[in-house]
Amino acid sequence: MTVLLECENLAVTFDIDQGQINAVQDLSLTLSSGECLGVVGESGSGKSQSFLAMLGLLARNGRASGSVKFRGEEILAANRRRLNELRGSRLAIIFQDALSGLTPTMRVGEQLAEALRCHEAVDSAQARARAIEMMEIVNIPDAANRFSAYPFELSGGQRQRIMIAMAMICRPDVVIADEPTTALDVTVQAQILRLLDGFRRHTETALVMITHDLAVVAGLCDRVMIMYAGRPVEMAPTATLFDRPCHPYTIGLLKSMPTLRNDPAADLPVIAGQPPDMRKPPPGCAFAERCALAEERCREERPQLRQVGGSQQVACHLVSA
Ligand code: SF4
Repeated sequence: MTVLLECENLAVTFDIDQGQINAVQDLSLTLSSGECLGVVGESGSGKSQSFLAMLGLLARNGRASGSVKFRGEEILAANRRRLNELRGSRLAIIFQDALSGLTPTMRVGEQLAEALRCHEAVDSAQARARAIEMMEIVNIPDAANRFSAYPFELSGGQRQRIMIAMAMICRPDVVIADEPTTALDVTVQAQILRLLDGFRRHTETALVMITHDLAVVAGLCDRVMIMYAGRPVEMAPTATLFDRPCHPYTIGLLKSMPTLRNDPAADLPVIAGQPPDMRKPPPGCAFAERCALAEERCREERPQLRQVGGSQQVACHLVSA
């Protein structure tokens, strides 16, 4: 497998009226061709901002530091022109809300053809043919006729398929799917996930699946990164994480997952409390206020992510190597 993305000590900061928010800190990871990495965390954990920063898509008040290399090329400092070249052709993103990701006044097939023409030297007929082919691959019925449909004429699931087709039309190396199925019903969710999985297996595209849903990760991902309060707290191959979760937050997340063994009448366990205010992060472990195992040291000293097995990394004082 070829290493595509290498991220070292990524930090993302936002300037706000009251000062600064450190949305992401100390994030290091690699991503190889054909791999699927699940990124899990609750809202505000920094999972989306990490990858928006890697694509140069932070909001105006945001800035990133550290290093992000794509195929060895540093891209955090890349200029707008170079980022535009890479985005869409080599690095693609699929957002949760397909309706806002598509231009409402432009026919969906034209949007696909346009995405291709921006990055490849094709004429209109070739672009149209590729757009229709992609619509067929993502299972849009009667693709040749639906080429002329507007986004509002398609169902939510079909719009998300168009977004996937748009992300994939240039056969990118890396696709970042940011909660791509959250707004869809369960059956359509399963179809979309199968589609993404099929793509990465056939094309060797690396897939990053950003989600709050561990069931999605279990079915799709090779590796998982759990984020809490802007930092990775556990990274492991998916099977290892589900068999032997180490961080108390990961253990809590897994316990809160519904299973067939749960009593349907009983409430699922929840992780009590709230994440810390990111404007005033605590000096020690960010999970301490919610952790049943917290000790004095946890509140004073921040645990670093460290290796605890051949392929598992955990940021917790109480987990020994
Ligand atoms: Fe809990 Fe302490 Fe581990 Fe943090 S470092 S997760 S507070 S035991």
